[in-house]
Amino acid sequence: MKIISILCVMAACVALPLFSMNASSADNRQVVFIMLGAPGAGKGTQAVRLSEQYGIPQISTGDLFRENLRNNTPIGQRAKSFMDQGQLVPDEVVLEMLFDRLSSKDCAKGYILDGVPRTIPQAEVLDKRLSESGAQVIVISLEIPDDLLVGRLTGRLVCGQCGAIYHKVSTPPNVEGICDRDGAQLIQRKDDTEEVVKERLKVFHEQTEPVKGYFEKKGNLLLVDSSVSKEKTTAQIDEYLSKVLPSASH
Ligand code: ADP
Repeated sequence: MKIISILCVMAACVALPLFSMNASSADNRQVVFIMLGAPGAGKGTQAVRLSEQYGIPQISTGDLFRENLRNNTPIGQRAKSFMDQGQLVPDEVVLEMLFDRLSSKDCAKGYILDGVPRTIPQAEVLDKRLSESGAQVIVISLEIPDDLLVGRLTGRLVCGQCGAIYHKVSTPPNVEGICDRDGAQLIQRKDDTEEVVKERLKVFHEQTEPVKGYFEKKGNLLLVDSSVSKEKTTAQIDEYLSKVLPSASH
């Protein structure tokens, strides 16, 4: 009798974590989303949404750098001048910070990468790591013409607490300057000025767009038109995910 109870407890210990995995693929592999797209294409908006939907963390290297800047860490000090000018932070700094974050317990089931990889070397290092771990990788590229992006970025407001994204004109918060989700203050990012935005777009085309080709060749890339409304962008992504992640809860 005692042995049977022990066996039941052991079986429950193994089964429970599996049943609570709402983000895992059908065969319980770790699921990793990679969001690609120009600054302002909507990566952050979609990543926050997917994070809530699948119960896995959104990992934005831009947010991690901003946190390091606020705390004046050695990584923040190394990144500051690049970020202020709209340039990319060197790959080794990005990867060190990223892999440190990915080693956290909350990444075990999966995670959503927002803003990384942004260069071919970053893509190669990450891809190698993900192939070795056997993760199911879903790469989504948000497509939008440049002329729509400048207006989107210069009007963008971000919650300093939860990262939710608003726009002064198209998606304003219910109360001016305050996040609808947690009541925290909304801020305008320092690099969302017209001059820095133009430089970020230039850097995107030169260094980040080739990353799309890298994943396209591997055959696991979804192209999404994000020049449309947030809801229509969401619908395109969800339709695709219902096919490739059939076991996921919505
Ligand atoms: P964006 O809206 O331009 O996508 P992010 O918030 O993702 O902005 O990033 C802000 C800045 O942080 C970038 O302009 C760059 O300086 C730095 N950064 C973020 N992620 C990376 C990365 N993967 N590689 C290099 N630099 C990065």
